[in-house]
Amino acid sequence: MIIVTRKGVTQDELDHIRERVEALGLRTHLSQGEHRTVIGCVGDEERLQGVALHSIPGVEAVHAVLKPYKLASKEFAAEPTRVPLGEGEVGGAQVAVVAGPCSVEGWDMLLSTARRVRAAGATGLRGGAFKPRTSPYAFRGLGEEGLEMLARVRTESGLPVVTEVMDTRQVEMVASYADVLQIGARNMQNFSLLTEVGRLRRPVLLKRGMAATVNDLLLAAEYVMAQGNPNVILCERGIRTFETATRNTFDVAAIPVLKAETHLPVFADPSHAGGRRALVAPLSYAAVAAGADGLIVEVHPDPEHATSDGDQSLDFQEFDNLMAGLRPFVEAAGRTLAPSTAAAV
Ligand code: PEP
Ligand code: MN
Repeated sequence: MIIVTRKGVTQDELDHIRERVEALGLRTHLSQGEHRTVIGCVGDEERLQGVALHSIPGVEAVHAVLKPYKLASKEFAAEPTRVPLGEGEVGGAQVAVVAGPCSVEGWDMLLSTARRVRAAGATGLRGGAFKPRTSPYAFRGLGEEGLEMLARVRTESGLPVVTEVMDTRQVEMVASYADVLQIGARNMQNFSLLTEVGRLRRPVLLKRGMAATVNDLLLAAEYVMAQGNPNVILCERGIRTFETATRNTFDVAAIPVLKAETHLPVFADPSHAGGRRALVAPLSYAAVAAGADGLIVEVHPDPEHATSDGDQSLDFQEFDNLMAGLRPFVEAAGRTLAPSTAAAV
């Protein structure tokens, strides 16, 4: 249930409305925008049945939210949510591009990648220190040593760091290094992990599970938000279908569907969706045209020798080309991209 308040509602009136609702055992969530103030109510709505909500001073309208997700639903927020990305943010006019290697493999490769993607207009650095691999014998990441490198490279390059956390036992440790905690596709419905990252306020990049519906993704975001963390970025990264021509099937329609359902920012991952470097640019353009607020892209100084996901990683020149090719799509979508300083490289 949401309560929309009258224009010019006073603080005392807001407090009073919330107190009335909370006294019945429901939780309230205030969202104040420039033009609208919304009080979202979560809990047993039956208890509100006997209350003359419309006659409480300051109340303009009361609407039921029929969707199973509440905090993540568009109705619950007065405006689109902006999630911090280091000093910047995602969900505003600028399309964010987070780029970097699939796995952190060493200091030199990480620093050179960070510098180069930043020069091309990236606003975040990705890199996995804990890697979910299909085979237990594949390279599974450098662990805490990789996190230390990411944090040092952030200082050197100025780029905020997005990195995956796979296990509840590592949430605090990863959060002590990362700006954004990535929850991978394989963990999208790891409810203990979602609860744990929800306890922190650290932004979360939540990737869609390979067999998850849009509804499942939004309910996974709801788990994080229900713990008090409003900083969730959703990410479409391709789903499993019968198609084998691509690594996954990029569900481009999920982007406008999500944008219609939620106030949370929506990213796309063209690297894991397509699985081949030739597909990264066209899928990125499609994502931006469909309304994505950001992209997360794999870039490696020497993809041929990458320890993971080399086939879908762009080299530096290819990333420069991607950013140059992306600009007209970003402009056509009425958005902006961080400027490139690549001429100096
Ligand atoms: C990754 O970002 O490297 C990754 C493993 O992604 P996903 O969880 O989407 O497969
Ligand atoms: Mn990868």
